[in-house]
Amino acid sequence: MNHEAVIGLEIHVQLRTRSKIFCGCPTAYGAEPNRQVCPVCLGLPGALPVLNEEAVRLTVMAGLLLGCQIRRFSKFDRKNYFYPDMPKNYQISQYDLPLCVGGGLEIETPAGPKTVRLRRIHLEEDVAKNLHFEQASGVDFNRAGTPLMEIVTEPDLASADEALAFLQALKRILHYGGISDCNLEEGNVRCDVNVSVRPAGSAALGVKTEIKNLNTFRGVHRALTHEIRRQTELLAGGGRLVQETRRWNDELGVTEPMRTKEEAHDYRYFPEPDLMPVVLDEARIEQWRAALPELPAVRRARFVAEYGLPDYDAEVLTADREVADFFEAAARRCGRPKAVSNWIMTEVLRAMGERGVGIGALRLTPDALAELVKVVDRGAISALRGKEILAELIERGGRPAEVIERRGLAQVSDEAAIEAWAAEAIAAHPGPAEEYRRGKAAALQFLIGQVMKLSRGRANPKLAGEALRQRLGRAG
Ligand code: ADP
Ligand code: MG
Ligand code: ZN
Repeated sequence: MNHEAVIGLEIHVQLRTRSKIFCGCPTAYGAEPNRQVCPVCLGLPGALPVLNEEAVRLTVMAGLLLGCQIRRFSKFDRKNYFYPDMPKNYQISQYDLPLCVGGGLEIETPAGPKTVRLRRIHLEEDVAKNLHFEQASGVDFNRAGTPLMEIVTEPDLASADEALAFLQALKRILHYGGISDCNLEEGNVRCDVNVSVRPAGSAALGVKTEIKNLNTFRGVHRALTHEIRRQTELLAGGGRLVQETRRWNDELGVTEPMRTKEEAHDYRYFPEPDLMPVVLDEARIEQWRAALPELPAVRRARFVAEYGLPDYDAEVLTADREVADFFEAAARRCGRPKAVSNWIMTEVLRAMGERGVGIGALRLTPDALAELVKVVDRGAISALRGKEILAELIERGGRPAEVIERRGLAQVSDEAAIEAWAAEAIAAHPGPAEEYRRGKAAALQFLIGQVMKLSRGRANPKLAGEALRQRLGRAG
């Protein structure tokens, strides 16, 4: 019998706020353990939470970008459990009234585009981090209270590849929207993976397992690939699956049992008495909606329509919001979008790749790039020189005119000077000159090259060609 996989994801995303969700402690990553803490995020008795509005705004923005319905009334609940990384012995989360419900995200599959439905997005607090040493364990509370958004999908994914495509598409939108840095190395995105298999074509869902806390997309893909194979083989061999929670063992490349349904926690959810419900009026949601960034797919289509760019250029430029902004600023400035695109897609992206930085970290400004496009257009410098100048603008900043001036790079169109270089080139290379006189057209290119050399690249190549032809008696 053929089996097919059914997958649903629960994705925890740390929001990009400066301070924590219920206190004023910073969320910055990488500080010394327990330096960014206070009575609230340490869970000390009597400390009271105060909701950070920015966390609500970012979650609503995510909901709007993902086509969710935004709840006008939602509330926080206590999820009770005992664990050292959660000193209050409950986590403040949202249970029956989350901020966002419904929505969906389209992914590309080999069989064409597919919409993955979302069930809900709720807001909660991140927990602390346990650190295990040789003789002892420690708890770092810097992370405790970081605002965390949990996105729950419907079981609409059918393979490890689809799950990966979904996570990548989601990451792109959340990053683009400024909702999360989505930095996986810093644990900004963590994922619980629910998976079952069923006879191909059957409508009923099979018994699922949940693999907890995967913090790389590669881990999600590997864990799913393994777990789908494990379940399929078990069923094919006549075995029965039990609903359970498993963990991914990355060294061994296998999933291992953690606890079964019988051992599952009863979280005894109840409304958080120390926080008011969240009430959002229409005006506020509309204000947030108006501030939504244009999504990559929409922007890509606009780049084609508005700037006449090829699809490929539009795709590459809009993949990174900062690059797209940079392009637009430069293109508007000089009115030559395709030329700007060409420079960005070659030299600028290469410079970013070599340095491993975003476009904002280069010294080049959109104005400088626009000016460079103009001087090359005017023929004031050759495209080759343009490349050198661009390299300098990227490295050191400044304006093209300054660089051209400082390095004496302005193209020479002065006839007397070009005549002199042409004469010198012919005198130094009588062989090619003679070949050209006898009809070998290619020899002229060689001589033009010599003029460029003599002029240190500054001669206007078109005028150099004319001067040479004139001298060699083959004008026109
Ligand atoms: P639980 O009660 O175990 O948390 P839920 O029904 O709330 O389960 O669903 C949690 C996640 O598991 C959701 O992303 C959902 O899409 C997914 N899911 C539910 N049932 C299945 C199943 N049989 N196979 C695969 N995924 C499932
Ligand atoms: Mg669950
Ligand atoms: Zn705090």
